[in-house]
Amino acid sequence: MDVMWLVFFALLGACVGSFLNVVIWRLPRGESIVFPSSHCPACGRPIRWFDNVPLVSWLVLRGRCRACHAPISPRYLLIEAATAAMVVGLYVAYYMLDLRDGLGAFNESWPTFLAHAALWCGLLACAAVDVEHWIVPLEVCWFVSLVGLVVGAVAPPDAAILPRVSPVVGAMGVAAAVGLGAAMLLTRWGLLRPSFIDADDKASTVTEESNSPGKKGRRIVAVAATKKDGINPRVEILHEVLFLAPAGALAAAVALLAAHVPAAGQWLNRLGDAGRTGPFAAHLGGFQAALVGYLVGGLWIWGMRIGGTLAFGKEAMGLGDVHLLAAVGAVTGWIVPSLTFFAAPVLGLLWGLRLMLSRRQRELPYGPWLAVAAGAVMIFHDPLLAAMQAAFHISPAP
Ligand SMILES: [Zn+2]
Repeated sequence: MDVMWLVFFALLGACVGSFLNVVIWRLPRGESIVFPSSHCPACGRPIRWFDNVPLVSWLVLRGRCRACHAPISPRYLLIEAATAAMVVGLYVAYYMLDLRDGLGAFNESWPTFLAHAALWCGLLACAAVDVEHWIVPLEVCWFVSLVGLVVGAVAPPDAAILPRVSPVVGAMGVAAAVGLGAAMLLTRWGLLRPSFIDADDKASTVTEESNSPGKKGRRIVAVAATKKDGINPRVEILHEVLFLAPAGALAAAVALLAAHVPAAGQWLNRLGDAGRTGPFAAHLGGFQAALVGYLVGGLWIWGMRIGGTLAFGKEAMGLGDVHLLAAVGAVTGWIVPSLTFFAAPVLGLLWGLRLMLSRRQRELPYGPWLAVAAGAVMIFHDPLLAAMQAAFHISPAP
């Protein structure tokens, strides 16, 4: 049975990888991912279906366009192979090595598996785009977040896979989401101003001539805005604080209400009580767990961005990283993005040290480190959590 699924997921992964190649090429260039169909970037001729078979076609054509013989980047082959290996690897880790508690058999937990696999594929696409363009494709993060919220609500996994939150925290999450929606509307109506508004053109993206041999041509790199660009990052970041204010205020209001008005707290508890509301409680609990994961994941990075910018007077962390860790949380709940937040800088620092020793670079894209750390934390979640609980003397809930 396992072998059949392994073959199926290898083929599915290669096909998804083929689609990820389209996403990785087109999204940062502002092109549609559905139209037009695949074409050779050199001669513009459409790629026929038999030249577009994942893995096989690149090897058969030996990495060249059939029409103009222009070389096709080995990245296409690499992404397809990596995606297939990742989906198969996740299946092996979850169902053959049983590395995660609470998953059970595949025929029970397959929606969770698909959501986790979608997250891994999304992280791969984000990392690949971030390495090349220094931006995180937000559409990928939004799609993965939506998958996480839907699976959490429709097919709520075991609490060991998607950690649940108390009814009050769940209600605070819903209130914060309403606040974020309100802030987005206020921004659209022009009542809130987006931050770093001029920086988009002046500083955030700069086309840089690459002089290094073998990497000729221009590439777009994101550069953190500083005072020299005619904007004050410390003032700009306050617009983001204002943007978050309605969410914070509503969540605080719910917490105060639940603490000081007994009827409100009792109503929330009854809503989440399976004995009273039946299956509704399970679906509500799963949705709130995913929603709080989304918010906690985003808040780790956004909090550091606001704190770092205020402290150093220089734009710290990209908003793309906020969306990326939020997506991790929407699929896995609040614990994985929290562990990831502390694991990623370790990986990034090691690499940064190596770069500093070899050549000077102004900044590092952070997305790939978040992606790698999140993937590792998902696999080694159980021993990591046990180690954390032992280190901080937290006894697991009975
Ligand atoms: Zn061509």
